[in-house]
Amino acid sequence: MSKLALLGGEPLSEKKMDWSDFWPPIKESTGDKLKELYLSRKWTAFDSLEGEFAQAFAKYHGAKYGIFMVNGTVTLQCALGACGIGPGDEVIVPALTWYATAMAAHYVGATPVFVDIDSETLCIDPEKIVQAITEKTKAIIPVHLYGSMADMDNIMAIAKQHGLRVIEDCAHMHGGVWDGKGIGSIGDVGSFSFQHSKTMASGEGGICITDDPELADRIFRMKHIGYGPGQLQGKALDGPEEGLLCYPFRATAFQALILNDQLKDLGSHLQRYQASIQFLEDRLHQTTKIRFQKAGRKADNQGYFGWLMIFDDPSYADIPIGTIQEAISAEGLPVLPTWGPVYDFILFNLSKESYRIDQAGSPVTESISKHSLFLLHAYLGLGQDSIEKIADIIEKIMNNCDALREYARLSAT
Ligand SMILES: *Cc1c(COP(=O)(O)O)cnc(C)c1O
Repeated sequence: MSKLALLGGEPLSEKKMDWSDFWPPIKESTGDKLKELYLSRKWTAFDSLEGEFAQAFAKYHGAKYGIFMVNGTVTLQCALGACGIGPGDEVIVPALTWYATAMAAHYVGATPVFVDIDSETLCIDPEKIVQAITEKTKAIIPVHLYGSMADMDNIMAIAKQHGLRVIEDCAHMHGGVWDGKGIGSIGDVGSFSFQHSKTMASGEGGICITDDPELADRIFRMKHIGYGPGQLQGKALDGPEEGLLCYPFRATAFQALILNDQLKDLGSHLQRYQASIQFLEDRLHQTTKIRFQKAGRKADNQGYFGWLMIFDDPSYADIPIGTIQEAISAEGLPVLPTWGPVYDFILFNLSKESYRIDQAGSPVTESISKHSLFLLHAYLGLGQDSIEKIADIIEKIMNNCDALREYARLSAT
């Protein structure tokens, strides 16, 4: 057994593994078009590019309308606002997600209610949604997290029974397909982010997709200071309905151009990720006791923000996750912890009166947060040599559990 790099041995990868030649993808032809756009001076709004991309993205996911915006937080905010959700209302969100999911509910004046996750998909648990519903509940925001999809069949059935809106947070799931339907097209609205770390990225950006013409109209007005779709600047034909809060949340033509080109490669991109994950999980299932986040129950095609490893087998569970992270990183593979329960996240600062944790608490979220690490999706696009190296590194660490325990014991004293 070779000595862990953490303990002074040779790291398996001399240089820190790096995807910066692969991600975000760049193409000469996109660069040429960007230059042309720059020289045209038509950098933003009202012209065809943003609308063209929004339509293409919506169509790709099987929805009728797409509304392109500055990020994937205001998309959630506008989706909630367009559904009429506001002060006095409760919005059910998973306890494990990026904190924007909960903040969006707060931004419209509603109360986010945190509900625990399923232990295999790590997405919101439908049974626990039912327990958390009160007469104030108006919406559910399921999040398709890391590399899995929330159980949309059960969530839609619950929503129907209780008269709730469903807004899918698809910030991790570009190109995902659930039971033949494009992700984001199943609930009332689907929201995606194009922030720099996501599977489609334009620095910043976000989109709402929907089949409902009224919601599409309201969301469009909310992002464009009240203008309706197709109305020229300075030539509004009608105003937004009274009380609908509207904002300047428009993104630029530069972002639309970059994303339009990325959309054409999304399918092949996801196939590459899927092949890497298949290889890693097949091999590590045989050689380690790590378990992996399960794909959505009816996933035909999975999207990815990251590849998630869970170290909660009894033979690993007593090793602090920080030690495993340190050991893997020392071999040259930077892995990250999950964000943990939103209400414990360092940037989440709402006062206790502004949110609610379901009375059942979130034991699964808390346990997963203590026992899992994820690898950002961009590593999955590296060549086969690198993917094999990733497997080698993880095997090396898990073959040295006794040394890890000893290291953790000494560091603690
Ligand atoms: C990134 C992310 C968002 C928000 O996206 P931004 O574009 O950064 O505002 C929302 N939800 C989840 C789950 C995310 O990961």
